[in-house]
Amino acid sequence: MSVSHFPGRDPLALAPEDCGRGHACQFCPEEEQCQLEKGHHEKRLIETRLAQIGQIIMVMANKGGVGKSTVSANVAAGLAAQGYRVGVADADIHGPNQSRFFGFVGERVRLSKKGLPPKNFEYPGLQYSLKVGSLAFMMERDDTPIVWRDAYKHDFMHHLIGSFDWGPLDFLVIDMPPGTGNELITLSDMLEGHDVAALLATTPQEVALMDSLKAVRFCQERGLPLLGVVENMAGVSCPHCSGHFHVFPRSHLAEALASADVTSLAQIPLSLALSSGSDTGVPIVVSDPEGPEAQAFAPVVTACVAHAQAGFAEAAKHSLHGLAQAGLESDELEQALESVPEEQRDTLRQQLASLLGSSNDPSPQN
Ligand code: ADP
Repeated sequence: MSVSHFPGRDPLALAPEDCGRGHACQFCPEEEQCQLEKGHHEKRLIETRLAQIGQIIMVMANKGGVGKSTVSANVAAGLAAQGYRVGVADADIHGPNQSRFFGFVGERVRLSKKGLPPKNFEYPGLQYSLKVGSLAFMMERDDTPIVWRDAYKHDFMHHLIGSFDWGPLDFLVIDMPPGTGNELITLSDMLEGHDVAALLATTPQEVALMDSLKAVRFCQERGLPLLGVVENMAGVSCPHCSGHFHVFPRSHLAEALASADVTSLAQIPLSLALSSGSDTGVPIVVSDPEGPEAQAFAPVVTACVAHAQAGFAEAAKHSLHGLAQAGLESDELEQALESVPEEQRDTLRQQLASLLGSSNDPSPQN
């Protein structure tokens, strides 16, 4: 099962003057002597990675502690459980928790010629291992605080996408830092022109709502498709009497989201099993796929898949259309048609034309 790429999005080959190393110049032992154009290398590196990535999902929150990383990990795991090739890029520089949420606490990565290898999360039933890239894998110690100026944060966002060797992915889920600051702007600029959509994690109380609306406005102003809001910690079931109650009143949330034209995709309960899954390094959507938490995440996973498939269908249509406009009259397409038995060629041309709804006569002009 795959929403993977249409051939029109072939990975870019490195330009001849590029050194071919899959990591940024800052990591390179040859950097001091290197005469090549470094800015160009970095740009190509990012483009090469992105060309192999289908749908990017940015998980945003305008407030810390509302469960953004939890949502990122469980949505990524839910996509992987459906057979997709998934990566999680941990862009939360000051709280890189994805290493914990996928069981890689204390682990480090070593730079190879192909770049930084992401960690592979494996679990019975997952067709592909889920790839995790995080700053945590490059720190000397897990409790080292990050005290970086904006220029370093900007560089790290480039390494996260360009220097990690993501390989082909159907989905890259990015766990964003809270807020609408430097990292979000850097990433949004870097990903411009690629298939990017956002999910917004929030808790239902008023104080988080006001901040979330700022993130909604950011998406609207940037033209970033917002798939919807994930309401986290929305209700809790009493382990003793099984009664359901709300810790955070939801009073104005639905109203505010509706007036901002934003869909509420899911309500995730406050759950000990959910936080324990994160602490022990196995997202609950894979360890207990039938449980209430996984069921609560299901509509979010479905929304991501639906968006990616719609984008893929649109891209395929455009590519075919481009092919019809440019290619049907080209020698290459005629050469390709030569491999088809002669009596079938006209029919094939006509079928393609009608599939595309083209009013042009697609016959070769000779
Ligand atoms: P953020 O990324 O927004 O800072 P996290 O996802 O790291 O937030 O969550 C903060 C803490 O709350 C973590 O310990 C996490 O396990 C816990 N948590 C998040 N969502 C839930 C939930 N629905 N039920 C129980 N604990 C949760």
